[in-house]
Amino acid sequence: MRSIVTDYLADALFRVEPDTSGQTAQYIPELAGANPESLAAVVATIDGEVYGSGDSDVEFTIQSISKPFVYALALADRGFDAVLDKVGVEPSGEAFNEVSLEHDTGRPLNPMINAGALTVQSLIGSWNSEPEDRGERVRQGLSAFAGRELTIDERVYSSEMETAHRNLAIAHMLRSRDVLTEDPRKVVAGYVRQCAVVVTTRDLAMMAATLANRGVNPLTNEQVVSGEIVRHVLSVMFTCGMYDAAGDWATQVGIPAKSGVGGGLIGALPGQVGIATFSPRLDEHGHSVRGVSLFERFSSDMGLHVMEIPSAASSVVRSNRVHDGERGPTRVLRLQGGIRFAGAERIVRDIEESGIDEARVVFDVALVFSLDAVALRLILEGSRRLIDEGREVYFVDPDGILARADVGDAVIVEELEDAVG
Ligand code: GLN
Repeated sequence: MRSIVTDYLADALFRVEPDTSGQTAQYIPELAGANPESLAAVVATIDGEVYGSGDSDVEFTIQSISKPFVYALALADRGFDAVLDKVGVEPSGEAFNEVSLEHDTGRPLNPMINAGALTVQSLIGSWNSEPEDRGERVRQGLSAFAGRELTIDERVYSSEMETAHRNLAIAHMLRSRDVLTEDPRKVVAGYVRQCAVVVTTRDLAMMAATLANRGVNPLTNEQVVSGEIVRHVLSVMFTCGMYDAAGDWATQVGIPAKSGVGGGLIGALPGQVGIATFSPRLDEHGHSVRGVSLFERFSSDMGLHVMEIPSAASSVVRSNRVHDGERGPTRVLRLQGGIRFAGAERIVRDIEESGIDEARVVFDVALVFSLDAVALRLILEGSRRLIDEGREVYFVDPDGILARADVGDAVIVEELEDAVG
């Protein structure tokens, strides 16, 4: 059978193809000459399935899409305090290359604009890393996110360096405020090299999927950065990734995203997929015109907006019945799905409100596939209180989902029959 998702992507590309508005990045000569007709879309699931359509293996430079990943590497190398001390996390509402800093502190507002990304570049590695070491750390780090060895396009690097006046201006301004403490020209060179890393749309989708998968690359299974760092980076992408279009993007598309003037655009949907598109003509914000249309389409067609409300918490209680077995009446709560705070609250409320009369209570978790820490605490506390009231409590747990939990005086059994007799 032909893949349904690939066919869907091909159809989406077909629909945006006629739009030839926008221009390739004019301020970097090597990018100005890119083939404006290239067009690709790739979706990578967090378990490593990749669906691509169009020019998904054509190479181009990553440009600003490197920013969230290099930010993640800096957080891993230096820790949150050292990085946040130098770069904020507030949306700027300004263009990516705005020459502006926070008034009082002199910090760049966020790591997605150039001022922030230049500062982040200086924070890679240890405090005394040489620029060459930082370059290699960045290349290797980006490769780990992509799951394959990436290289640098020296022509694009040299081309951008020849016209890097604006980034030099920003870096000198950062140096004058002591946000940068080294030669600003070297920092610009490092940043421009990071932007010249060569990727395909497929690579970008895999990098985004690594974010969506809490920092674990779905192909190599390498934990590239911690889950805590990923949550922070995705939050900054959501609020700042699309610069002065971030609010429109958050409301209409609703996927943490980042664009690059090479024509790439990525979105990472936590726990689901990484998505990437490629089309080099840009709008006034520097975002790929056809990429933005594709993402709008994907978000509505596939219901990908992160603020889409998930199924009701009450759905975690599949049934709440009294079972009449040999050992007399037993209250059986069959639970299901992924249980987080609101689901667990619903379970303990069911217990509190229904004023259980039975001497035995069973929590059947056979159909539960995940219980987060707070849900587990609530349910175990509910169990403890039932036991305090003099009842017996059983958990039906054939797959060992509670294996590491301390269930106190409750009893874990394999099957419902073992509890109700
Ligand atoms: N290297 C580019 C620059 O600094 C990256 C900009 C971008 O992709 N938005 O101008």
